Amino acid sequence: MAISMPKRKPRCGDGVRRVSILGATGSVGKNTVDLLRRNPERFAVEAVTAKDHAELLAEQAVALGARFAAVADPDAYPRLKEALAGHPISVGCGPEALVEAALYPADWVMAAIVGAAGLAPTLAAVRRGAIVALANKEVLVCAGEFVMREVKRCGATLLPVDSEHNAIWQCFDSSRIEAIDRIILTASGGPFRERSLDEMREATPAEAVAHPNWRMGAKISVDSATMMNKGLELIEAHHLFDLESDRIDIVVHPQSIVHGLVTYHDGSVLAQLGTPDMRTPIAYALGWPERLAAPTKSLDLAAIGRLSFEPPDERRFPALRIARSALEAGGGTPTVLNAANETAVYAFLDGRIGFLDIAEVVERTIAMVPAGDIQSLEDVHNFDKTAREIAIRLSGVRANARRAEAMGPR
Ligand code: NAD
Ligand code: MG
Repeated sequence: MAISMPKRKPRCGDGVRRVSILGATGSVGKNTVDLLRRNPERFAVEAVTAKDHAELLAEQAVALGARFAAVADPDAYPRLKEALAGHPISVGCGPEALVEAALYPADWVMAAIVGAAGLAPTLAAVRRGAIVALANKEVLVCAGEFVMREVKRCGATLLPVDSEHNAIWQCFDSSRIEAIDRIILTASGGPFRERSLDEMREATPAEAVAHPNWRMGAKISVDSATMMNKGLELIEAHHLFDLESDRIDIVVHPQSIVHGLVTYHDGSVLAQLGTPDMRTPIAYALGWPERLAAPTKSLDLAAIGRLSFEPPDERRFPALRIARSALEAGGGTPTVLNAANETAVYAFLDGRIGFLDIAEVVERTIAMVPAGDIQSLEDVHNFDKTAREIAIRLSGVRANARRAEAMGPR
């Protein structure tokens, strides 16, 4: 069985690793910057990017001594230029500038943009054979087979940063793949783990983003609340570890201490544990194949006292079932799942649709887009575009229905 685990040594040359960060101003990006700033002698920064947070990006670029900084949003460009005036840092804007950032000659690229917007720059880094630390799971959900083919063709290396996949990578003996039975991803269960469907129907965006264990960006926080995050991670794991859906289990573990497990045929189960702090998996990828120190709280199992596990409830969290069947359907269906989910999550965050509408919009969009194969990047874009158009329409229908319900019977 082929697997995309890193086998070759990184190109460190003079001992300094050159890095770029796509999505530097987000939650994963800021944690990466934190680790870089603690280890200035080990890293040199090539490029940093953001969507529109120009001031923070400029501050990061100066502090890290980056050569290039780019914002996706043209409206943020004048602010970036002004903030970096007088500094020897080139600036850019728009989607092409994100790709330009990925093409700067960094040995190691953190892919931490959220959503399918990260596909083009991540692919650009892959295509020049870089080591890509992948946080942006949507890249593998929307174009997994295509991206993995390009990773192999271009001799790139993908390092999983998502905490569950990073944990599994640490326990996964890629030289003894035949000895591996299955892998297990843990899920916190999110902020609504104990809520009834009726309670979730009324959930607000503020409640949905208040994750009990992790501080993350808004989109992934909502995904954790619907448990679509675990569905996306299932698809991500399928591509990273080359395992079919029936060999990937999900177990709810509310404490988020055990991040991922690998079960071997002899009955051994290897797990990686740690306090829930993304700087641990980021440090593992940043230092790989060495281990870099991370300023995380040490794990005190006696103080925690109890680790609990339970099966996921797919009746209250249908997103998991929807994602698993999208993975099994294959072709363009995971691309549709991802695009519909992104659309529905932002409609929910904007207050237009309800929390339970998210999974419904996703499932109905999948049912409405004709199935088909993905042969090229153009196919990915076509499925993505069609799915977004349908999901926007369905979200509009739900939004109107909610407004009518709120006004009550006339
Ligand atoms: P975030 O929203 O905090 O940050 C996203 C970053 O991407 C920001 O720098 C933002 O400026 C940039 N960005 C957003 N939209 C963009 C666009 N259209 N074009 C270009 N840049 C854009 O998100 P995050 O929580 O850091 O998550 C980033 C990715 O990592 C997601 O795919 C998420 O699923 C994954 N991830 C995050 C965590 C976590 O702890 N936050 C853990 C595991 C995986
Ligand atoms: Mg995760």
